[in-house]
Amino acid sequence: MNTLKDLFLNELSDMYDSEHRITKALPKIIKAATCQELQGALQHHMEETGEQVAKLDRVFAAFDEQPRAKKCPAMIGILAEGDEIISKNKKSPAINAAIISAAQKVKHYEIASYGCLHAWAQELDNSEAASILEEILNEEKHADKTLNDLSAAKNEEALEEVGAGSGSEKS
Ligand code: FE
Ligand code: FE
Repeated sequence: MNTLKDLFLNELSDMYDSEHRITKALPKIIKAATCQELQGALQHHMEETGEQVAKLDRVFAAFDEQPRAKKCPAMIGILAEGDEIISKNKKSPAINAAIISAAQKVKHYEIASYGCLHAWAQELDNSEAASILEEILNEEKHADKTLNDLSAAKNEEALEEVGAGSGSEKS
């Protein structure tokens, strides 16, 4: 019978795989961005993702387990869809908006997953693992908020450009 610990270790291996895939996907996404602030934020996420892999190594260790990756079909799909939307908008002024939406989908999957992992580590009475997972969860939430703020600023700029181009006045 599968226990909560099995479920936890399975999900942990899934996120171990996800973080590796995100690290591999980010350089191409950073290159596609035309907004310097967004590039900077993504660069920071890439470094943070590398550190998160090391943090997950410590979570496995807190359960006396060897780190292992289990293929995450969801992250493969989210990244593939992101790649598609970014390719389709390469020449568009909406390229940065496309990148932000793709990145936020990744972040939301991570937030849901780490939220569960954190709660399960607490239920399994492993406070060391729980505190590391909470750290990662907070990083993902913060990254999502950064993308949100950038998106709001970008949308405003785009609307102002449209307004200026058409000569219309802002109400
Ligand atoms: Fe992450
Ligand atoms: Fe998954």
